[in-house]
This record gives sequence, structure tokens and C-alpha cells, in this order.
Amino acid sequence: MSTPFDSLPIVVIGAGPVGLAAAAHLAERGLPFTVLEAGDHPAAAIRQWGHVRLFSPWRYDIDAAARRLLAEAGWVEPDPAVLPTGAQLAADYLQPLADLPALKPHVQYNCRVVAVTRLGLDRLRTAGRDTTPFLVRLADGTDLLVRAVIDASGTWSTPNVIGASGIPAHGETATAGFVESALPDVLGADRDRFAGKRTLVVGAGHSAANTLLALADLAAAAPGTSVVWAIRAVSPARAYGGETADALPARGAIGTRLREHVEAGVIELVTGFAVQAVHPAADDQIEVSDGTRELTVDRIVSATGFRPDHTIAAELRLDLDPILGSTRALAPLIDPNEHSCGTVPPHGVDELTHPEPGFYAIGVKSYGRAPTFLLATGYEQARSVVAALAGDWAAARDVQLDLPETGVCNSNPVVGDATIDAAGGGCCGAPAETVPAGCVLATGVAGGLLSSPLTLLTVSAPAAGEQSGSCCG
Ligand SMILES: Cc1cc2nc3c(=O)[nH]c(=O)nc-3n(C[C@H](O)[C@H](O)[C@H](O)COP(=O)(O)OP(=O)(O)OC[C@H]3O[C@@H](n4cnc5c(N)ncnc54)[C@H](O)[C@@H]3O)c2cc1C
Repeated sequence: MSTPFDSLPIVVIGAGPVGLAAAAHLAERGLPFTVLEAGDHPAAAIRQWGHVRLFSPWRYDIDAAARRLLAEAGWVEPDPAVLPTGAQLAADYLQPLADLPALKPHVQYNCRVVAVTRLGLDRLRTAGRDTTPFLVRLADGTDLLVRAVIDASGTWSTPNVIGASGIPAHGETATAGFVESALPDVLGADRDRFAGKRTLVVGAGHSAANTLLALADLAAAAPGTSVVWAIRAVSPARAYGGETADALPARGAIGTRLREHVEAGVIELVTGFAVQAVHPAADDQIEVSDGTRELTVDRIVSATGFRPDHTIAAELRLDLDPILGSTRALAPLIDPNEHSCGTVPPHGVDELTHPEPGFYAIGVKSYGRAPTFLLATGYEQARSVVAALAGDWAAARDVQLDLPETGVCNSNPVVGDATIDAAGGGCCGAPAETVPAGCVLATGVAGGLLSSPLTLLTVSAPAAGEQSGSCCG
């Protein structure tokens, strides 16, 4: 027997590709829903890296329910073999999807969710949680009562810091004006900030590689432009990825071009560099230190990956993996020590369930800090979770995935002057960057005292996957 609680809508937070996929599945199943998007259009996060080309061709970028709804409306599907840019993904797929009559009335823009809780219940109260509506609070103070919440709000707005210890490097906050988040449009809108300048890129993932290649192109066109690339690993081998062994050739090609630029000296590579401090230097430059070495540059691009922000759900009962910040059940399936994007096993509602009934985080946020997320995985999560909310548990548990292999990942530790990091586990052709095995961090750095050794720390085993150079971000 259905109750008034059952007839409340389901809220999806975020109109990115995975939130909209959830909306498409909810529409197909006839469940009432509302998508709340902080931006003023769909794919607000993706549009910020619209100049970057995906490494996954269209074949892997479109959700099945979305494809069906779009096809009914006469949409012409892009060539499945072509690699879209972020801007094309937004314009040619996500905008038309959000504009479908089945979705458009249910997608609300400029609606930032600031908190999700249970009406009248804080986290301590147990009785009646599963029949008490969720209260979703928006930034303008509006409260919505809903039956379930699918959090597909991504991680784009919470990038990692450049400080190697996971907290800001000394001086990082004060020098924020010199530091760019991942993926500035170096050859386009942001060109003036980089032309003729010396730029340091920190990180070893897909975002770092994209930015480095763009800076290398800029260096060829704009005299005085130079590029420094700092990674914590002892070798860039994993950043170069599978190259020709990658099942996604575009992703492999990025690694090859990166290696060629480093070998040609266009990109100055600094290995084993764990950022400890950042300070202003003469001539409006900035000095970046790992405690023993200093790099003096005009700008820094921080491409150290992203982390989830679960604070909006602080009054819910979440069971988070202490390392990744995904659900505890999902963590071993996406662990970057063991998996690349392409080897993540199929998973769905069972692995995404929290102790809080009816609350699910899906999409890139579901992976926490693991840099192994692919759209295709997120679409399958959306399908499974929506099937469960519809009570169709057979469909919810029939999880399937067709993912491309990276050709780069394994979990065999190789240390010393290793060709790969001991942590292995890169993703999307990119590494989970680690402190070099056996490395001695000879110098602790206190704010302002770059040359004052404070402690002697020996790191005998690398901390796997921490502050990873995100593969996809
Ligand atoms: C440069 C780059 C390249 C990538 N290339 C690929 C690729 O080739 N293949 C692949 O499979 N994957 C790729 N990825 C990984 C992944 O597919 C993308 O990150 C994808 O955008 C994740 O989708 P999402 O819907 O989970 O989150 P997002 O796209 O980040 O969408 C989240 C949405 O939620 C909104 N939002 C955030 N907070 C709130 C809030 N509090 N209230 C309301 N709305 C909110 C945001 O505005 C945004 O619209 C790439 C990622 C990056 C960064």
C-alpha cells in the first residue's frame, strides 16, 4: 500500500551527465523527480573544461535511457567513434537531454543544495528514519520535502591542494592568486595569463597532461613561455600511461605526446617533488619548495585531483570508506591500487547503499578520491539506483559494464628507481601518484623557514593513491 511518503518526489542533486542520466531513468519509470542544479544550465562543471577533448568516444558517453528518450524525440546521435570535447558533450548531448519534455519541467537551475537531512530528525535519532521525508535545503533558504535523494553533485568544486601532505602547503592559501585550478583554457580564454610566462604544473593525471600539452603548444607560439612539471613519483612512466597499449587511443596518444615533449626538453620535468611551501618571490614570481629544492615560476596550475565534499549530508548516516570517501562497500572495487577505470567491476545499488535509507551518492562523487571514474560506470549506477527506488530489485541487481581497458594498470609494486610507482593503480591512463618508495624527506618546513630542517622523516612505504593525480580530473 502506498503512503503519502511514497508519493513525494525524488531529488537528484546536479544536472551533470550522471544526474541527468538518473533523471532519464526516473522519467522512463514514471517516478516523480526534481533535478536541482547549482549552475544556470546543465553540465555546469563540464562547461568549465569545455575546451578539453574527452578520451572516451561518444560510444561510452551516452546513457542508455537518455539515448532512448532522445531518439524518440528525433535526436541524431553523434558518431560513436568520435571524441567530443567537454563543450560538445554539453551542447550536443546534455543540453538536448535536459530540454526534453520528459525532463525540462523537472530540472531547476540556480538551485544550490546546502544541506540534506531528515525532517525533524538529526543524525542521532533512529526511530522512523525510513518513513520520514528528507528535508533538502537550498541556498536561498527554501526547504523541500522528498522521498529519496540521489547526490550527483560531482567533485569539481573541491580540488585537492598542492601541498603534498593533503593539507595546504605553507603559504598556499596566502598565494592563492598565483595558483590556478585544473585545466585552465591555456590556448583560449586564459592565454594571456600564461603567454610569455613560466608555469609550474603540479600533478600527474589526465588534467596535468592536458594542461602540459597546451602549455607546450603555447611555448611554441609565444616567446618566453616555459613549462615546468613537478610530480611526486620518481618516474613519469605511469603518467605516460599505456600509450599504444591503451584501448582508448586518444588517451594513449596524450601520454606519448607528453613523453616526447619531456624528452625534447620543451617540458622541464622535476621528479620526486612533494610540495611543502609556496612563497612570493621577487619580480612578482612565486617560489615553490619541496624542502630541499626551490622552483621559481610565474604561475602554478594545480592538477592534483579532486575530493568529495560530504558536508551537505553531515546530518545523514553515511558509511564512508576512511581512505577514499566512497561507500565502504565500493572502495575495494575502485581502489586505485588495484584498478584502473577500465577494470572496475560492475556495481550498483548494493555497493552504493548507506545506512541512511534512500540516500545515494552516484557519479564521480561516489568514487570519493579514487581517480578511476568513467561516465559509463556512473550511468550504470544511475540505472541500478533508480531501479531500486522503483522497487525493481531484479533490474537493480543485474549490473553490467562495458568499459575500455587502459592497458596501463597493474598492482605490482616496483620500487627503488622504479619505472612505476609502487602504488600502481593509475586510471584513465594516469597514475595514482605517490611518495617515492624509500624516499627520505630530509626537511620539514615551517611557514617561512624554507631552509630550516625541523624533522627527519623516513617514508618506508608509499601511501597508495593519496593526493593522486586524478585521471579524469
Ligand atoms: C577534464 C576531464 C575529462 C574527463 N574525460 C572523461 C572521459 O573521457 N571519459 C569519461 O568517462 N569520463 C571522463 N571524465 C570523468 C567524468 O566523466 C566527469 O568528471 C563527469 O563530469 C562526472 O559527471 P558527474 O555527473 O558525476 O559530475 P559533474 O559533471 O561534476 O556534475 C555535477 C553537477 O552538480 C552540480 N552541483 C554541484 N554541487 C551542487 C549543489 N550543492 N547543488 C546543486 N548542484 C550542484 C554542478 O554544477 C554540476 O553541474 C573527465 C573529467 C574531467 C574533469
